Amino acid sequence: VTVVWCEYAWLGGESLAGGVTMTIDGGTIARVETGTPRGNAEPLPGVTLPGFANAHSHAFQRGLRGRTQRRRGSFWTWREAMYEAAAQLTPDDYLRLATATFGEMALAGVTVVGEFHYVHHAPDGTPYADPNEMGNVIAQAAANAGLRLTLLDTCYLHGGIGAEVEGPQRRFADANADAWAERVDGLRGGPTRRVGAAAHSVRALRPDEMSVVAAWARERSAPLHAHVSEQRRENEECVAAYGRTPVELLADSGCLDERFTAVHATHITDEDRALLGAARSTCCFCPTTERDLADGIGSASALTAAGASLSLGSDSNAVIDMFEEARAVELDERLASEERVNHEPAGLLAAATAGGYRALGWDGGALRAGACADLVTVAFDSVRLANVGADDLVPALVFAAHPADVRNVMVAGEWIVRDGAHLTIDVPRELAEAVR
Ligand SMILES: [Zn+2]
Repeated sequence: VTVVWCEYAWLGGESLAGGVTMTIDGGTIARVETGTPRGNAEPLPGVTLPGFANAHSHAFQRGLRGRTQRRRGSFWTWREAMYEAAAQLTPDDYLRLATATFGEMALAGVTVVGEFHYVHHAPDGTPYADPNEMGNVIAQAAANAGLRLTLLDTCYLHGGIGAEVEGPQRRFADANADAWAERVDGLRGGPTRRVGAAAHSVRALRPDEMSVVAAWARERSAPLHAHVSEQRRENEECVAAYGRTPVELLADSGCLDERFTAVHATHITDEDRALLGAARSTCCFCPTTERDLADGIGSASALTAAGASLSLGSDSNAVIDMFEEARAVELDERLASEERVNHEPAGLLAAATAGGYRALGWDGGALRAGACADLVTVAFDSVRLANVGADDLVPALVFAAHPADVRNVMVAGEWIVRDGAHLTIDVPRELAEAVR
């Protein structure tokens, strides 16, 4: 049993609670009391928040940072560079790169990651001796970094609508949807590890194949994620082939329910929004990547108004900063709508925490009894926050804090970051060596 005393803590809502004593037992928060004296508890200065949920990541794309920012292009030209990076990965390389990338996430206050994983097989498409070799590498990397993991094993069968996988895509593809399901049943969960499903996109799966993935997830009450309408071209191709939008096609295939997450949902119709809202699905916005790839600006407030939940992801890992993902949802929407405060700050913080935990299948992302004991402390004596009064700290955290302000990170009751340093990984050195 660990007892900590938080100078301030965010228990939900627009303001902070002071003098919060938290009792942690067996990886779970057992008790939360406010307005308490410090007593013998371990003091946590600054603000304690539930840990951040990074609900959409492709760890290997961390290797591309800074390498795709020259010469004019589009999402589709970026994808060629991404395929080249994917083509080079060996299991050993990937263990190193994913460990370092997850280490960077830990330092940024991320406590759970949803890894949307599709680099399954050898470069020519042949399964490894253990067909889950790469999935196990991701699980090992998360364990090395101390992160909670939902491994969203991704079904990816076609190179585009009506097209075979080719070149670097071959290593993403299983023989068919049933072979995917059989392989994924070989993956194991654990106290801080869960297996979920992903349908890569309407480009990579036919509707009948999406139905197989949806049924697999439904039978196991597992999270199901899919890339949805990130680019207009995807919508155009989908409507041309099926006479339906991607969201409509996913709905017809039985994918939409409260365990479903539509990643991006950038270019969707009012009808699509109504479908996602009525199903109480989650939309995962990844604003730093959506900017980077010139995808466009989704309307998060219209989605939440329709009944959908919001979560956030660092996706391509071009930057790893959940404060920035949270504020970007609002700030990008301001640019598009010419209106301010489309989202209250506490709602943005909830998207970065509880919204992601829910989408990844965990009872967490909140400082309350019964939740995962995953938390992060943020200093407010840095140059960014030093002048801010306690009453304004929730908005100031969302709009001005930075991963450098993260001091301590706990996952399942165990510290993984203390005083701004990872306890087991020299993250900058590992990143340098892994990317080289
Ligand atoms: Zn993605």
